[in-house]
Amino acid sequence: MKKVLVLEDEASIRSFVVINLKRSGYEPIEAATGAQALEQIRQHPDIKVALLDIMLPDIDGFEVCRRIRATDSNMGIIMLTARTQEMDKVTGLMTGADDYVTKPFSPSELTARIDALYRRVGGDSAAEAVEIRQGPFKLNVRNRTLEKNGQRIKLTQVEYSIMKLFMDNPGKAMSREDILNAVWGRDYFGELKIVDVNIRRLRIKIEDDSTNPTYITTIWGYGYKWGF
Ligand code: CA
Repeated sequence: MKKVLVLEDEASIRSFVVINLKRSGYEPIEAATGAQALEQIRQHPDIKVALLDIMLPDIDGFEVCRRIRATDSNMGIIMLTARTQEMDKVTGLMTGADDYVTKPFSPSELTARIDALYRRVGGDSAAEAVEIRQGPFKLNVRNRTLEKNGQRIKLTQVEYSIMKLFMDNPGKAMSREDILNAVWGRDYFGELKIVDVNIRRLRIKIEDDSTNPTYITTIWGYGYKWGF
């Protein structure tokens, strides 16, 4: 499914957009605040296009855009602007956004813009492999599932993201900071220990013997490496 983030604090506008996106074959991922939007993007790394309202109860849409752009230059971003907002200010602040739509907008106008942007960011192409196979492991990127020797292994979203990162970088030493930034995002101010906690849990799930790991090896004082 083609995921589109819909950040809009007014529930009536949000549901109007959501209904129309579903009709056009998209899977809307909803957020009512800037913080929720950033969290949804962390949980759905396959979101290709984001609609960002500007006036929000917490951080404004421009700030959300800036934070998305800090880690992702590929996502298509459309700002939803009110007609009352001064357009020179909007366009001046729009540096990171790809397009804007002025409220009130018609459903066909909005979906036409999203379709165009989706094509541009390559959301329609099958450029990314659906499956990554390495050793006994098969990661399905579309379903976000992992199998080992044909057996499904249940993963949390974070564990899946770590596996995806490892399988995209086989044999590469990854620092704990690299893993934290890639999986939790640069805006996460938690401790590096969270990486170790998740790796420990992941090892119990995927290693033949988690006390003697062979797939995820520790690089002392640095981080971890995925390989065989
Ligand atoms: Ca608003």
